[in-house]
Amino acid sequence: MPKFSALLNSKLPGAKTTIFTQMSSLATEVGAINLSQGFPNFDVAPELIELVHKAMLDGHNQYAPMQGLMELREVLSDSFYNKYKTRYNADTEITITSGATQAIYTAIATVINDGDEAIIIEPAFDIYAPTVTINGGIPRFYKLKDPDYTIDWAEFRRLITANTKLIIINTPHNPTSTILSENDLKKLEQLTNGTDIIILSDEVYEHIIFDGQAHESVAKYPNLAERSFVIGSFGKTFHVTGWKTGFCLAPAKLMAEFRKIHQNVVFAGNRPMQTAIAAYMQNEENYISLSKLYEKKRDYFLELMKNSRFEPLPSFGTYFQLFKYDQISDESENDFVLKLTKENGVAAIPLSYFYRYGHDRKTLRFCFAKTNETLEQAAELLCKI
Ligand code: GLN
Repeated sequence: MPKFSALLNSKLPGAKTTIFTQMSSLATEVGAINLSQGFPNFDVAPELIELVHKAMLDGHNQYAPMQGLMELREVLSDSFYNKYKTRYNADTEITITSGATQAIYTAIATVINDGDEAIIIEPAFDIYAPTVTINGGIPRFYKLKDPDYTIDWAEFRRLITANTKLIIINTPHNPTSTILSENDLKKLEQLTNGTDIIILSDEVYEHIIFDGQAHESVAKYPNLAERSFVIGSFGKTFHVTGWKTGFCLAPAKLMAEFRKIHQNVVFAGNRPMQTAIAAYMQNEENYISLSKLYEKKRDYFLELMKNSRFEPLPSFGTYFQLFKYDQISDESENDFVLKLTKENGVAAIPLSYFYRYGHDRKTLRFCFAKTNETLEQAAELLCKI
């Protein structure tokens, strides 16, 4: 190859391939059971597959409108109204995206200009901080309190400056499986009232919440909703992460700016999937029952792990379960997870990956969105350690 001499000024020097791809690739390479990256390994509802097939046969194979298919935006608008009693206008306040990641990227790019600060709550999903940086912003980190991973709002408040443009929240929370309470949302409301701070609320696990708790969407709080982007994922809700179809909701003024970026990033999301999901979502049962399914899986996995030396932390939502391994080893999370994958045959994600500057709690994240058979096989291997 000829020598290429132009120097790229990297926007993310030091960034590596995301842990989700690293661990899933390693699991495949060594034949380990993959409880690392968060995706289900069970079948998608045949009805949903048939609806996609039908959409394709019916000729819905060309571009969707830039904002997303109207039928899907309408069903989302009704769904949010039924759940949270807030009406988002399907025409001006809802956009269908190529997955939640694109929605998050676009929302951050919409808000952040050079030198703007964004507050990120650690441990945090890995795309928030780099996306702030790519767009010229400065991430500021608030660390959830050990051992319960809760927010001390008096401490949180100290991070807010005249340059704070964005606060990113995520409930149910990946990777800790904690949830924000009504009190948390009210505190956030008090903190941001009368300011220009925008909220990005990552709610991709809104339908996976356990033990009878209610999901606290920012959409439920008018004073927050008026300054918020709400992000959701059909991939998480319908077991189709590979379809890369998600959405963003925001008041019309914010959404108009969001769309200016969105149309330059992807133009529009996937058409046949949108047609199919719009039809499938007409039946609320298809997503309301999700919490029960995953609560059973959580309980089953914990039961199987009861006699292991891994110590579970509470999981209130998402399809993740944290386990501490300090009874087993004092190795770093990175070393331990590599050994676990290569020698014991189970892949997981080190919690420290979700902190910018490490933070080794001897804790790993396991995904239990798996068939019972997979959970049994994984638990058998983990119980031997
Ligand atoms: N949200 C998933 C997780 O945390 C994976 C997302 C991804 O791989 N981009 O595992």
